[in-house]
Amino acid sequence: MDDEFGAAEERPASSREGRRVLIGESWRGKPRAKLRELWPFLRPYRRTLVVVAIVSLIATVLALVQPLALQRLVNSLGQDIPLSGLMWTLIAITLGSALFGALQDFMLRWTAEGVVLGTRRTLVSHLLRLPVADYDARQVGDLISRVGADTTLLRSVVTSGLFNIVSSVLMFFGAIVLMALVDVTLLAITLASVLIGVGSVLAIGIAMRQGSRRAQEAVGAMTASVERTLGAIRTIRAAGATERETDRVVDAASAAYRAGIHMARLSALIQPVMSICIQGAFIVVLGVGGYRVASGAMSLGDLIAFLLYVFLLVTPLGQAVGAFTSIQAALAALDRIMEVMKIAPEANDASLPRGTPAAAGAPVLEFDDVHFAYADGRPVLTGISFSVPKGSRTAIVGPSGGGKSTTLALIERFYEPTSGVIRFEGRDVRTMSREELRSHMAYVEQEAPVLAGSIADNLRLGAPEATDAMLMDALRRVGLQSIAERSPLGLGAPVGDDGVLLSGGQRQRLAWARALLADLEILLLDEPTSSVDSRTEQVLQEALRETARNRTVIVVAHRLATVADSDQIIVIEAGRVIATGTHAELLVSSPLYRELASHQLLV
Ligand code: ATP
Repeated sequence: MDDEFGAAEERPASSREGRRVLIGESWRGKPRAKLRELWPFLRPYRRTLVVVAIVSLIATVLALVQPLALQRLVNSLGQDIPLSGLMWTLIAITLGSALFGALQDFMLRWTAEGVVLGTRRTLVSHLLRLPVADYDARQVGDLISRVGADTTLLRSVVTSGLFNIVSSVLMFFGAIVLMALVDVTLLAITLASVLIGVGSVLAIGIAMRQGSRRAQEAVGAMTASVERTLGAIRTIRAAGATERETDRVVDAASAAYRAGIHMARLSALIQPVMSICIQGAFIVVLGVGGYRVASGAMSLGDLIAFLLYVFLLVTPLGQAVGAFTSIQAALAALDRIMEVMKIAPEANDASLPRGTPAAAGAPVLEFDDVHFAYADGRPVLTGISFSVPKGSRTAIVGPSGGGKSTTLALIERFYEPTSGVIRFEGRDVRTMSREELRSHMAYVEQEAPVLAGSIADNLRLGAPEATDAMLMDALRRVGLQSIAERSPLGLGAPVGDDGVLLSGGQRQRLAWARALLADLEILLLDEPTSSVDSRTEQVLQEALRETARNRTVIVVAHRLATVADSDQIIVIEAGRVIATGTHAELLVSSPLYRELASHQLLV
């Protein structure tokens, strides 16, 4: 996929500050380069497109010979020639042209739906594989808009786009050749007025391309704004900010409106410009042609055939103009899609050769002088070293913002250290694929995210094969069996969007039960008891002890009571390990730990 879509070797800078720049960033290229980028999406349909090309060629040829048949028929009127053969030919040509035209239309729409599906599939699959840092730098709503609205716009490249342009060009030149055969003077007059129209439309089309990109960006920003607001609706209500937030979304919607109006102005210009040129051509051809028929320089059949060709010339031109404008919109959408496709996905392969196998008895995890900064470059971890023996229970504690969650994120390899080494069972983690590393550990995030769906859906996320009995057992271990027992739907009980039907503590325990079910060697827990009452905390402490019996557990905790009986406690302050030991040892050796403990009445 990377090669196909040319995923960039170097990713764009992805800081929170850079977010606006990235989203607004315009990626432009030459039309041929654009078509090359479109090709991977069209390639699966290349055979269908060849068939469509043949069907459309037949439809075009039939449309082009129709005036000739009519010319013959009219010129034969009044002469002593049998007309029925000519009549039937004309009827057959008319019906055939309509039939092939309809077939072409259907096949194109069918292909277009396939292209949209293929693009969505590729885009979603790519979106879910971006490096974690890239999500930090982007707005979810804008990404949603790219999957929804922008991919839909690609449809028109196929339906009214490429093929209409091809068949229009064919029809245009076919008509010119046949018009030249009928009357060269009239052809010159027609072409002059048509070319004026085409030139003006092309100029407008170029402006539309830029306008379309702006309109799509505005829709993306609006979706992001709605997503932001709905995602924090309770906070917004409670803060009395509903009115202000409504204004924010409406502002974003107004920007989309203004961009839409700008586009409307431009496309409103196209129609009259084309109409004036087309009507002008008809009037002049009728006038000059009528005079020539009256003077006997031209037959009536020739004039009728010529007028039909003028019609055949301008109809595809109108279509081509429509196609041109929708292609402009589609190419702008393709820009936005490719902008995401060009971000290199999270690498899964090991970045270093395997090296020598680990010595027996190596710690299960080891940080060796690890430094780390997020994209903004501010150092967050400054030389962290610690090791976690296999089967131990390790707690990471310390003041807020010190880098505890970041440490867990580095263990999961969501980010890479700027320097230093992290080892898993003695092996540098870079000698393993991310997938392999993650297959050894379950991770419960600080926010304990819960996916919309049922309790069972959430529990089976990391253990799709788990039976209902196993799910109930996991719930029991975290003291949460009652939510399934009380609901008539049992394990099928919904948790709501983002888990809103659950309490904060229930969400945490559900996330924990999910991690337990996955049954992996290492369990990483980020503040698993921050939202539970003291009785539940005891249940969880017991669950923690039991879990740690046959696993390595690393817990980030503010509530020291939860982790006081850990095998080792690592105290992290401002990105450094300032002390390591057991609760009793730290009470003696670490003033900061003693202070934290005394605040929590543990001394
Ligand atoms: P807490 O106890 O409050 O959860 P913590 O010790 O877990 O805090 P971290 O979440 O690791 O601290 O954050 C350490 C620092 O890194 C903080 O200053 C925070 O602002 C910053 N930080 C965290 N996540 C990101 C991110 N995705 N991008 C940029 N900076 C971040």
